[in-house]
Amino acid sequence: MKNLKTSVIGSYPIDIEVLNHVKGYFNQKIVTWDKYIESAVEDMVNSGIDFVSDGQTKDPFVNIFTRKLKGCRIRDRTEIISKVEYNGQITIDDLKYAKNLIPKNRKLIGVITGPFTLTNSSVDLYYNDEKDLAFDFAKALSFEAKHMQKYADIISIDEPFFSMAMPDYGKELINIITKNVSLPTRLHVCGDISKVIPNLLDMSVDILSHEFKASPKLFDEFRKYNITKNICLGSVRSDKVDIESVDEIVSHIRKGIDIFGEKITQIAPDCGQKMLPRNVAFQKLKNLVKAGEIVNGR
Ligand SMILES: [Zn+2]
Repeated sequence: MKNLKTSVIGSYPIDIEVLNHVKGYFNQKIVTWDKYIESAVEDMVNSGIDFVSDGQTKDPFVNIFTRKLKGCRIRDRTEIISKVEYNGQITIDDLKYAKNLIPKNRKLIGVITGPFTLTNSSVDLYYNDEKDLAFDFAKALSFEAKHMQKYADIISIDEPFFSMAMPDYGKELINIITKNVSLPTRLHVCGDISKVIPNLLDMSVDILSHEFKASPKLFDEFRKYNITKNICLGSVRSDKVDIESVDEIVSHIRKGIDIFGEKITQIAPDCGQKMLPRNVAFQKLKNLVKAGEIVNGR
């Protein structure tokens, strides 16, 4: 019997009731965001997912962090206007709220948008040095990671920009965040990572998470290396509304097992599901869970 765990990556879609927000605004009532966290967590729990997140419903995944960090302001994009520093907890309230919503047998993922991705998603008006900025982001995020430990069961760092360019200090950046964390850690990098697999295998994290469903060529690319990390296998697409059948997901996972063997510890969507309609995202999670049960022999 296998023991693959199902997981999500970062964000989840929500149906925003714009009209209620507008009404709330004119009636000077504060419309809280909690119900959106509830709807995301509820879908993940109801679909049977083992490792759920708060759904990152409030903001795009860069702004969640740059809205709260010192030195950043959000215009069209995030602008860096002074030294980036930690300015108090960023996602912890949402994490705590999600923790109270999930049954005891489910685990919670603390999600951090990585320092290199924050750097490359920002307009730098202060540092004029990408590396300095990236290191200050990493130091600030390490405080958030420490706080996350109280509520989360695993910390996932999302660094999609590593697929476009891997800086020679990439390993150091991730290490700043993970070195003081005792929880298991996961590094999620979507996109074409075939050129940077050796760098990724060298990172100080426990699990690597990639989009194997959209990029099945990654199976062949990984075959060239000695796999030193556990793998979170992307098994349903996050960029297509077609819902993969349970059978299709099962054969995808079995293909992964042929290559990675026991190293596959998690199966998940390829990436955050925010761009999908909510009912599609939910159905994909349900099929993922069913496929996991079949592979696990239950
Ligand atoms: Zn992704």
